[in-house]
Amino acid sequence: MALCPKSVLVTGANRGIGLEFVRQFLALKTPPKFIFACCRVPENVADLNSIAEKSPSVHVVKIDVTDDSIIGGARAYVESTVGADGLNLLINNAAVGVQKRLQEVTREEMRRHYEANAIGPLMVARAFLPLLKQAASLSPAAPMSCSRAAIINISSVLASISENSSGGGYAYRPSKAALNMLTTNLALELKEDGILATAVHPGWVKTEMGGPNALIDTGESITAMMSLLAKLQGEEGTGKFYNGVRGGLIV
Ligand code: NDP
Repeated sequence: MALCPKSVLVTGANRGIGLEFVRQFLALKTPPKFIFACCRVPENVADLNSIAEKSPSVHVVKIDVTDDSIIGGARAYVESTVGADGLNLLINNAAVGVQKRLQEVTREEMRRHYEANAIGPLMVARAFLPLLKQAASLSPAAPMSCSRAAIINISSVLASISENSSGGGYAYRPSKAALNMLTTNLALELKEDGILATAVHPGWVKTEMGGPNALIDTGESITAMMSLLAKLQGEEGTGKFYNGVRGGLIV
């Protein structure tokens, strides 16, 4: 199966994994007509702006996932740009990740991680749902897929309860576990609309969050995830938590 959404929206697209998603969508054999590359401060994202200057399909759009009025403004822009085609693929990638030990974690850090990593992706999904439904409705006979209509939540193996053998990460781990539960809920509710919803772990990746000792670079991570996204289909592909690099499910 080829990955060929007409439109894709990526949050946190100004650096790290999000920026590489933009690059690799542009490099597809059939690239999307619209790539909405979202970031908090569009006037201050030189790498992304230089891609957008050369590629008219890339639209740099302001989204702070913790701010509903900014999310609403982004949705209005995307809606007016895609028109009746709707939005095919939403990638909730933006997140914060600071490893807090028990004695360091505060109420404020817990709230900050839940806001950005769980509540934010849910509110973005809710805001863009009418556009995803519109895209899904245009190919009613097709199975669910990332080319038809899908929400991909970038999670982390650190969210896995069964694989937690080291502890720590008091704010980050539970915020991503909450994201996984939200993903399951979305998958259950949206399958009747033909919208797939799945969570993916990108590997341990050299970015600001992953740090310099991480195992892989963004190119390797996103190449693997793009090939996974191309394969996700129907009931088999929705409501899951995949290891995007090694393959297989995480429990
Ligand atoms: P980075 O820290 O490099 O990038 C994080 C991105 O999220 C930045 O674009 C940042 O924007 C954005 N962001 C943070 N808060 C908000 C917000 N409130 N609203 C909008 N954007 C926001 O991280 P990675 O690229 O490594 O991570 C991408 C995803 O992959 C995350 O979901 C992360 O949890 C996940 N992941 C990463 C791993 C790794 O090893 N790197 C491992 C497992 C999962 P700004 O520049 O404005 O701060």
